[in-house]
Amino acid sequence: MPYEDLRVNGDRLRDSLETLARIGGTPGGGMHRLALSDDDKKARDLFVSWLQELDLEVTVDSMGNIFGRMSGRRPGLSPVMAGSHLDTQPKGGRFDGVLGVMGALEVLRTLREKGIETERPIVIVDWTNEEGSRFSPAMVGSGVWTGKLDLQWVHGRKDVHGRALGQELERIGYKGSTPCKSWPVHAYYELHIEQGPVLEREGKRIGVPRGIVCLHWYDVVVEGTANQVGPTPMEGRNDALCAAAEMILKVNALPAEMGGNMVATVGEIHNHPNSRNIIPDRVHFTVDIRSWDDQLALQAWERLKKDFQEIASRRGCGLKTDVTWRVEHVPFDERLVQRVRETSRRLGYPTHEMVSGAGHDASYMAMVAPTAMIFVPSIGGRSHVEVERTSWEDCEAGANVLLQCVLQSAMEG
Ligand SMILES: [Zn+2]
Repeated sequence: MPYEDLRVNGDRLRDSLETLARIGGTPGGGMHRLALSDDDKKARDLFVSWLQELDLEVTVDSMGNIFGRMSGRRPGLSPVMAGSHLDTQPKGGRFDGVLGVMGALEVLRTLREKGIETERPIVIVDWTNEEGSRFSPAMVGSGVWTGKLDLQWVHGRKDVHGRALGQELERIGYKGSTPCKSWPVHAYYELHIEQGPVLEREGKRIGVPRGIVCLHWYDVVVEGTANQVGPTPMEGRNDALCAAAEMILKVNALPAEMGGNMVATVGEIHNHPNSRNIIPDRVHFTVDIRSWDDQLALQAWERLKKDFQEIASRRGCGLKTDVTWRVEHVPFDERLVQRVRETSRRLGYPTHEMVSGAGHDASYMAMVAPTAMIFVPSIGGRSHVEVERTSWEDCEAGANVLLQCVLQSAMEG
């Protein structure tokens, strides 16, 4: 059979996704499988047993990243890699991350079943703690592997109960002996759900992201004057919460003013002393700005700071702003992106050009290897929630694109 006619087994893919969804499944139909929890260990054990069934060479590195290597005709050539993550958000969904790992597994199962040997080796990967919800920050498995984060620092990151990531790796038996260090990779593909509403709205089956937007995080503190709410007249108050409220609406209005595909969000707020009969004297909130255009995102922040300053002084409040974290936008490899696009069309799947608004392990991978992602629709655009769903047909379509892309790269000399 010509390689171009090869397809994955959609039922088998569905079966692996459903089997994994029973480990840490919630009554609401979602997933609660936090990184390095007992359920994460169970999912890892099952995953490793599936890799062993395929006779892959399994290694676990000191970050707990799990790799399964299928040899090729020319073992000296750098491998093609595909994968994602098996951890989930608290009360998260069944498809985020898992689809990319099970999709890659289905690719390898298909190749084994058909007795196809590729020129290059193929490596499937489950990256540790992509979500960053139990241990922050996110994407640390791929971050350390690509040399962008320090292993000791990441091992020392603690969850809310004070348990360190490194100790938890040891506890569940996944602190491997292999050093967590990148090797040359010929191509990296990550199949993932879109986590937004665009593909569904456009009626397209495959999203072709050209990269991942920049991510700028800020912290803002507004300081006012506390006082008893009853005896203090409205005139002359220095109400930090009212000032913050105005500022938050400025953040919300910003993308429409700046243009350029930007989103801006205040997702976290702490009000002090947070009492119904005291005028708030201190408010801390976060700002998250994302855009494909890093410069535009920086200009947006400058504009916000001016607005914040004006609001603060009009209300007699102090203002302090901090840059917390900035990651530049990450373009994917044009050749691989083109391959995802052409392959999807050849398979008869309508495509949509887009950018990824969320970070992924592919963000770090794109810094060290040619990388591309394949997106499939999220029903209702919902993700990181229990109702997160993608149709089985779309899962299968995404895995078929992954199969054909991995094959093409793995047959390259
Ligand atoms: Zn994910």
